[in-house]
Parts: sequence; C-alpha cells; structure tokens
Amino acid sequence: MMHDIDRNNGSILELKDVTKSFGGIHALQGININIQRGAIVGLIGPNGAGKTTLFNMISGFLGMDRGEIRFNQKEISRLYPYDRSKLGIGRTFQLPKIFNNMSVLDNVLIGALQKSGDIGESKQRAMEILKDINMESLADSFPGDLPIASRKKLEICRALASSPTLLLLDEAISGLTPKETLEMIDLIEKLSAKGITLLIIEHVMKFIMNISQWIVVLNHGQKIAEDTPEEVARNETVIDAYLGKRELSC
Ligand code: ATP
Repeated sequence: MMHDIDRNNGSILELKDVTKSFGGIHALQGININIQRGAIVGLIGPNGAGKTTLFNMISGFLGMDRGEIRFNQKEISRLYPYDRSKLGIGRTFQLPKIFNNMSVLDNVLIGALQKSGDIGESKQRAMEILKDINMESLADSFPGDLPIASRKKLEICRALASSPTLLLLDEAISGLTPKETLEMIDLIEKLSAKGITLLIIEHVMKFIMNISQWIVVLNHGQKIAEDTPEEVARNETVIDAYLGKRELSC
C-alpha cells in the first residue's frame, strides 16, 4: 500500500517558523515543514498538539502570529481561505461542515462554484465528482439522512469540486467501520494516483502508518519528529509522547 516519495517532485508546501498562540496557549511554536508534491503525509500527535490549528494556518481559516507559508513557491500567509482554495488548497473538517438542508449535489455545487461562477458548468462538475466517488445515487439525498462515512465522502467531494492540488483531510476515517475504512483507503489512494498531495490528520495509527509515506509528529505545539512511518514508530520521543502502547502496523 505504501509507496516511496518521489523527492524530485519538489515541495508543494513550505511552512517556516509558523507560530500561533491563543491567549497563554502556545498552539504552534516555530513549526517548519516541507510537504513534497504528490506525497501522502500523516500529521499525528496527542489531543491538543496543534494539528487542527496547523490546518487552520495552511487553509487560512485563522491568521498566524508569525511565520511564512509558501504554496507552489508563492507566499500565501496573508491570503483569505477563498483565495487559497482558488490556488489549489482544499480541506475537510473533523466534524463534516456540510449543509443538512441542501441536497448532496448542492453541497458539492457550492465547492464547484468557487472554481467557476457558471451554475450550469458547476453543476456538471459537481455531478462528475459524485460519479467519480460513487456517490451519484445520493445526489438528491439530504446529508442529515446519511451515515458518517457518506458525510465524510461528501466533504471530500465538496473539497474536490474546487480542483485542489493539495488536500488536507482532518480525521478521514475516525468513526468508520472496517469496511468503510477500506473504502476510504481506496478513495485516498485514488486521489493520490490523480496527483493530489494529501496531508492527513488521523489518530487511528494502523491506518495512518500504512497509508502515509511520511509522518510529521506534533506535541504541545512543537514538531517533535518527522520521518518515514517505520522510523517514527521506533522513535523514542514519539513513543513517550504519543504512541505508547497504541497498536501499530507498518
Ligand atoms: P485534537 O487531536 O484533539 O483535535 P489538535 O492536535 O488538533 O487536537 P488543536 O485543536 O490544534 O489540537 O489545539 C491546540 C491547542 O490550541 C489546544 O490547547 C486547544 O485547546 C487550543 N485551541 C485551538 N483552537 C483554539 C481557539 N480557537 N481558541 C482557543 N484555544 C484554541
């Protein structure tokens, strides 16, 4: 399942000295990370480590106190989320942020409209994405009636509608059954095969260690390690801070 990173691809995303506090809480302290184009990268760490805050910095949902973020070599630190999305950064949320009073198709249409203002064209694109993800039979359903796995997939469809080249997935498989997890793995691998770079937050270690080529570990707002899954699983600092007796399988 795991493939090597092609280091000749270069960085798609570079974080330098990214720092964010909430009052007295140092959520991120001087984080430096380079994400290789085309890679699947896992972002792990205990609760409160700063993972979601890092996603908020990259997608622009919150401003940084200090630091620099470059996407395709372009400084994006001060851009609004909408503009980052237009450049190719997509994301999903830990708790799917979808509109329950709108159909599945209309939820994806919202994402597509970020790419093109033309309703007809956007609707066609939204339908193509639903088809590609095997969700077309649910186009007229309402998300509130769907199981969590479909809601998670719908969030991915919506993010895909704006044609991201970097996709941030926040807890892609938490709460899914083993069968649904396998389907999500297939989907993530399909997105990766299309050339989309993936940065994934996940607490389910078996999954993240198996699917990622590279793992970044945060703890108390600091990057305590980054390496291949095999090396991270052996790293004493990571074991002490997070992995402990978690079940691992690389
Ligand atoms: P989890 O695995 O539980 O989702 P996390 O690694 O994503 O955790 P963050 O949600 O980024 O961690 O939180 C990092 C720290 O920043 C925590 O102490 C959290 O309480 C704090 N924090 C995050 N967002 C805010 C906010 N909007 N206001 C105040 N404090 C915040």
